[in-house]
This record gives sequence, structure tokens and C-alpha cells, in this order.
Amino acid sequence: MRLENKKALITGALRGIGKTITDLFIAEGAEVWGLDYKTPEDLSDRVSAAKGKLHWVQLDLSKTAEIDGVIESAVKEADGFDILVNNAGITKDNLSFRMSLEEWQKVLDINLSAAFFVARTVARDMIRKRTGSIINMASVVGIHGNGGQANYSASKAGLIGVTKSLANEVASRGVRVNALAPGYIESDMTAAVPEEARKKMTEVIPMKRTGKQEDVARAALFFASDDSSYITGQVLPVDGGMYF
Ligand code: NAD
Repeated sequence: MRLENKKALITGALRGIGKTITDLFIAEGAEVWGLDYKTPEDLSDRVSAAKGKLHWVQLDLSKTAEIDGVIESAVKEADGFDILVNNAGITKDNLSFRMSLEEWQKVLDINLSAAFFVARTVARDMIRKRTGSIINMASVVGIHGNGGQANYSASKAGLIGVTKSLANEVASRGVRVNALAPGYIESDMTAAVPEEARKKMTEVIPMKRTGKQEDVARAALFFASDDSSYITGQVLPVDGGMYF
């Protein structure tokens, strides 16, 4: 129970890595506010099964103007968060010369701008309490780039910049900010990758397997818990050794 008495806000908690982090944090004793674009009514079965440990916040993170108000209300309802996981993210892949303004802008809005606005509002309360851990879900692609993903790479590289800058601003107030950089993780996001490309990718991963959502969730637990109490401003790859 490494997160006993902790309150966490997790974005993109509906499915995939965000859902797995939500389930693990609850199992470790945390009370979680899951945020996604579905309504609390859509999630009623999951919320009641969690027996008071899961609350639901509905927000479409592409609606930038709504973010501050919704997050301020969630902070008030929870009486402050100890942990924030900025996990929500999308891809809209295309070659740079074919990429539309919409494909560029939407990915930057959700993956980077929304994450920054959520972090800033949550951190404002954390610094008052002089404790907190913020975890931003970046990607190996934000460090190394990837053909066909100029928008996504830029958003994740930007998120790494936000991580280090914010970490610098809040470190002396007891708040830590770190990022995870997953490699190839099995989820809806990667489900569309053709089998041949998946095989090739697996061959170049030294651990010879793709990542599981639990691999990322356990790394998030490390940053969320006091096990990482003297670590801030860092980017931890969770990639089976893809780039060492
Ligand atoms: P996913 O598509 O399965 O889940 C993404 C979640 O974000 C969903 O719950 C979705 O509803 C939510 N979301 C998307 N747009 C939203 C919006 N506008 N408002 C509110 N919620 C929104 O993807 P995943 O693989 O679980 O990815 C989770 C995070 O991990 C993302 O930030 C992704 O970029 C990152 N990541 C994934 C991989 C991978 O290989 N799967 C690798 C590196 C980084």
C-alpha cells in the first residue's frame, strides 16, 4: 500500500495505460480522480466497483478554455491532489509534407498545452501544501523523433521541456515533476501497427518484447510514491532498452 491516504488525478483514465495506472494506484491505497471525455454516468459501473476509491471528471482536453475551471473544481472537491499523472494523449500521424494544420494543432493542444494547463493548476495547490508529485507521460519519440510523427514528437519533446522547467520552479516548495518516456507499449494507440512492423520493432528492442501497460504503471508508481523522494526533473525511459 505505497499510496495510502494519497489522492491522485489521472488524465486519460478511460482506457489503456491511464486505466492501468488508475487500477494500480487504487490497489496501492490511493483515492483516484480519473479524467477523460466520457461522462460519470458512462463510468458508473467502474466507479461503483471501486467502492469510493474512484471519482470521475469529464473533460475534453482539446477544449483548452474549459481546462482551468474544471481542474480548479476537481482540486477543490479532492481538497488538493498529492499526485498528478498527465497521461492523456493522441496521435495523428502523417508525413511532414502532408500534415494538415488540424493534425498538427490537435496533437499539440491535447498532448502539450492541456498537460501544461492541468499541471499548473494542480501544482498551484501542491506548492501551498509543500508536497506533491507530477508525472508527465512523454515518449521515446519525444527524445529521438520518428518519421511520420513530427506533431507527436514535438508535443512529447515539449512536454519534457515543461517537465524540467516546472520541476525547476517548484522544487524548493516540495513538489517533484518527472516524465516517463515509454517505448512501444501494447494499447489501443499501437493496435493499428501492422504485424510486420511490430515484428521488426520487437527485433530491435534488446529485451525482445513489446511493453505491457503494467510496465509503465509500475514506473509511474515509483515516481508517485516516496520511493523517488529525491528525484525531480528526470525523464525515465520505459522501453525495454530500445535506445540505451
Ligand atoms: P490510448 O489511446 O489507449 O489512451 C489514451 C487515453 O487518453 C484514452 O483514455 C483517451 O480517451 C484519452 N484522451 C485522448 N484524447 C482526450 C481528450 N481530448 N480529452 C480527454 N481524454 C482524452 O493510448 P495509450 O497507449 O494508453 O497512451 C497513454 C499515454 O502514453 C499517451 O500520452 C501516449 O502518448 C503515451 N505513450 C504511449 C505509448 C504506446 O506505445 N502506447 C508510447 C509512448 C507514450
